[in-house]
Amino acid sequence: MNGNCVNYIVERSEKYDVCVVGGGVAGCCAAIASARMGAKTVLIESSGVLGGQGTLGIVTPISATNARNGVSFGGLVKEITDEVISMSKKYCTCDQNGADVWDIASPHIVKYVLLDKVQDAGADIMFHTSFLSSTTENDRIESIIVHDVNGLKQIFAKNFIDSTGDALLVCESGAEFVKGSEEDSYDSLRVTGFDKTHDDSGQEGSVYNSCTKNGLMQPVSIFFVLGGVDTEEAYKLNNKELHFGDFGITREKFSAWKFCGTCGFELSDDDKIPMPQGRILVTKTTRKGALAVNMSRVIGIDGSDADSLSTGEILAQKQIIAIIDFLKTFIPAFKNAYYIHSGSTLGIRETNRMVGKYVLTGLDAINCREFDDCIARGSYMIDIHDPNGKKRAIGGHLPKNYYDIPYRSIISNTYSNLFACGRCISSDHVAHASTRIMGTCMMTGQSSGTAAALASFQNKKSYGIDVSELRKILIDNGMYI
Ligand SMILES: Cc1cc2nc3c(=O)[nH]c(=O)nc-3n(C[C@H](O)[C@H](O)[C@H](O)COP(=O)(O)OP(=O)(O)OC[C@H]3O[C@@H](n4cnc5c(N)ncnc54)[C@H](O)[C@@H]3O)c2cc1C
Repeated sequence: MNGNCVNYIVERSEKYDVCVVGGGVAGCCAAIASARMGAKTVLIESSGVLGGQGTLGIVTPISATNARNGVSFGGLVKEITDEVISMSKKYCTCDQNGADVWDIASPHIVKYVLLDKVQDAGADIMFHTSFLSSTTENDRIESIIVHDVNGLKQIFAKNFIDSTGDALLVCESGAEFVKGSEEDSYDSLRVTGFDKTHDDSGQEGSVYNSCTKNGLMQPVSIFFVLGGVDTEEAYKLNNKELHFGDFGITREKFSAWKFCGTCGFELSDDDKIPMPQGRILVTKTTRKGALAVNMSRVIGIDGSDADSLSTGEILAQKQIIAIIDFLKTFIPAFKNAYYIHSGSTLGIRETNRMVGKYVLTGLDAINCREFDDCIARGSYMIDIHDPNGKKRAIGGHLPKNYYDIPYRSIISNTYSNLFACGRCISSDHVAHASTRIMGTCMMTGQSSGTAAALASFQNKKSYGIDVSELRKILIDNGMYI
């Protein structure tokens, strides 16, 4: 649909140096960085809230804000998380003395802090505005067409940043992209011994000989929060699967339960109690007696396909009540639990990724590779929620403190004024299983916003800017790269 909408554009149009499409944590950092550089910046967001999965999806753990040895990645990651923690402590009930960063981030506070910082930096925000289409000229994106409550609008910019998570601008404009796994995705896992479940399921040996198909994507989930939980007891079960006999649950009792056979609770022949994600998976929240639950899982969903997305929403939303009923009925720590809230959008882990000048590989991440043009760092484990749904999570912790992300992985291979940040940077399926984490998304956000502003001022193509100058600015702005 590249350019198709342009015939319908009438009088509404605007001009910017940098246009950031998608206001998740990555896009917000891109907009803040670009505007602080002095570039005329706009942030386009289809919902009415900033933060994407971090707020709408109530994904509360902000992970990979530090290297594995605890050294902060600095820059906007530190600035934002420090403020989120301090405000969460002040405004949200918090009984987690001495808890880690991710334990005490409130999504409501994340929403406020991002809004405050984007505005303070001087970027314009267009809420309830959806990217629809683009116009291109030679090797450049000339404009994008957006839709808001008043109709269509054309936005011209010198540089564009795709922070939609799904690489929607990349895909629509005809730039090169990939979706999900590659045929040889799991080779890097086999040669490094990362082809095992990294949880405590005791599943030893190679778990991945089935994944040789292209385009497999990690499953979708919706986070939700329960109050009234005996959090100490519940936490003891974290990341564990359950077997018949545990808590006196018999196969007969379970078979008679009203959700048995539905919503991911389908019985198999083994002695495991079926659960959508195969395990209890909870994280702490800012509230006493409340836990965030990440136990839903729907496989085979493409979050960048309209019909599939709707199917995913329906199935995941239905799972929530079944999971709550399961926990209340069978697990003593949840006997008095009550449902507080759930994410207002489906949690999508993986869809499309831009193909950049360099594709960061699983081996680069696992080997903790360093790059001369490093503009961000990742420290999270390779965390592949099994696209086939048979295993819980595949991968493992990095052997060193971090891996580098090169500048070439945030610039498009196709258009000279197109950047990506966050979930859709240029990486393979395995590297993506680590780069998709919020701390890393924020770093690539800050780098892409800074680079796009620089390219705008200097009238240069993305690949024509001086990367050592970019790195110096990022380091001066506190980034540990
Ligand atoms: C279930 C689940 C659990 C996770 N657990 C963790 C965890 O423990 N720790 C961690 O750090 N990370 C975790 N993650 C990963 C992390 O939350 C995301 O990968 C990360 O937040 C992605 O950030 P982003 O800014 O790239 O994209 P998103 O958060 O997806 O933001 C994209 C933004 O673009 C907007 N948008 C989309 N389309 C359009 C359009 N057409 N026009 C305008 N705007 C548009 C969206 O509304 C959204 O605001 C988890 C993810 C999921 C789904």
